[in-house]
Amino acid sequence: MIVVMERDATEEQIQKVVSRLEREGFQVHLSRGVTRTIIGAVGDKGHLQRESLEAMEGVEKVVPVLRPYKLAAREFRPENTVVRLRQGVEIGGEAIQVIAGPCAVESFEQLLVTAEAVKASGATILRGGAFKPRTSPYSFQGLEEEGLRLLAQARAATGLPVVTEVMDPRSVPLVAEYADVLQVGARNMQNFYLLREVGAAKKPVLLKRGPSATIEEWMLAAEYIMSAGNDQIILCERGIRTFENATRNTLDLSAVPLVKSLSHLPVFVDPSHGTGRWELVTPMALAAVAAGADGVMIEVHPNPDEALSDGPQSLKPDKFAQLMRQLTRVATAVGRTLGQIAVCSA
Ligand code: PEP
Ligand code: MN
Repeated sequence: MIVVMERDATEEQIQKVVSRLEREGFQVHLSRGVTRTIIGAVGDKGHLQRESLEAMEGVEKVVPVLRPYKLAAREFRPENTVVRLRQGVEIGGEAIQVIAGPCAVESFEQLLVTAEAVKASGATILRGGAFKPRTSPYSFQGLEEEGLRLLAQARAATGLPVVTEVMDPRSVPLVAEYADVLQVGARNMQNFYLLREVGAAKKPVLLKRGPSATIEEWMLAAEYIMSAGNDQIILCERGIRTFENATRNTLDLSAVPLVKSLSHLPVFVDPSHGTGRWELVTPMALAAVAAGADGVMIEVHPNPDEALSDGPQSLKPDKFAQLMRQLTRVATAVGRTLGQIAVCSA
């Protein structure tokens, strides 16, 4: 439930409500907005009478939250969550952030060339998979810890914060040592042990939507991370599986405004995995920002024909530069700007 305090409620009145809820066994989350404080209470305590809370001084009303997810719900926290990374990169604020880089880290040269190119075009976060979730066990599985080291070197060289996937709960501490943002991939969206582990890691998490997950299941996955104590979550729509097979997935752009209304968490879109075809990536990235996305994630490779994974959906650096120019215009049209990194290099 949510306890909405009156505009002029005193700190003492707020604290009395908090103590009462805690005594009753609720987990309490305070949200101090500009005009009023909202107290979110999670727990299945049917015996606490709504009327008795409403009778407390300073309380305006008590609203039950009927959705199965609570901490991730917009009702619980009306203002947008902003996830802050190094170099002043803020996700979920007014500026749109662009994550770009290769599908997989293949070598230091491939990574650095890509990182420098995407940075020059205006990307603010570098991506690159070190642990790759491949459909076939015979496909390239990633450079693993060596890949993480290369990502850290590319960050040192460019100043770009780094996002990379973690697939196994056991490797969360290792990946967290190197990454600025832990990516939970689409296939692992309902790996509940992994969700709890990244929740405990207290590092920002990029949570991709599962290929066959409903919006509610996706929000409940975010709830797992939040209930483990981590509210720095970026949601990422990356296409869902439908009957259509002309594209790799069906990019569900209606999820963007819908999720923005249901949740306070930032929402990104990945048109690379969402379409699987490089020529569809730019139009879908532009549409994502027009639809209200807080950023996009784009796969870029200096030589897509030779990429060890996802070449067909990777943009060459010049095409990415073009995308960024167009994206700037769309961002302006919807009243946003493109993010910048604060310092040129680390
Ligand atoms: C990725 O971004 O590297 C990736 C594997 O994407 P997804 O989990 O969305 O398939
Ligand atoms: Mn990929």
